[in-house]
Amino acid sequence: MVNKAYAAIQIRRFAGLDFFPHQAGEAIVELVVAAMSAHSEEICKAACDSILFDAVKCPKPAEVRLAVKSEYERRLSTEIKREPRPNLCKWCESNGYIQDSGVFKRCLHCPNGGEFPETLLELMNTPPGPKPSIEGRIRNAVRMGEILSRS
Ligand SMILES: [Zn+2]
Repeated sequence: MVNKAYAAIQIRRFAGLDFFPHQAGEAIVELVVAAMSAHSEEICKAACDSILFDAVKCPKPAEVRLAVKSEYERRLSTEIKREPRPNLCKWCESNGYIQDSGVFKRCLHCPNGGEFPETLLELMNTPPGPKPSIEGRIRNAVRMGEILSRS
């Protein structure tokens, strides 16, 4: 719930719109009460911003309430999406390796890092040289397959 003074400041921003109830104190109070329904000042302001973005005429209290509600729901859904995935290593996201100034290294902060195959790190850190021969590529593919089946 937002206090009356803050809600009034936000509603006053509609004063330049057509049909703002300049002469009707009660109508303004209803708009302020609607703006007060916001959970926080931030949501109250964002709701009024969204109305002002394209409104030509002053919104009705119901439209203010609706804007407040949809702003609240929009934030709720993005907060849920932003929540970090639980139980992931914060250094390597449980991939087992980190990249330190261009070099792949084993993560030293979690068990996945401890188990990360050294040979795979070597391969990851091998600069792309000249194209290997067919035999070389087959050897690499076999080696890669062995490493991957181990991990
Ligand atoms: Zn880790």
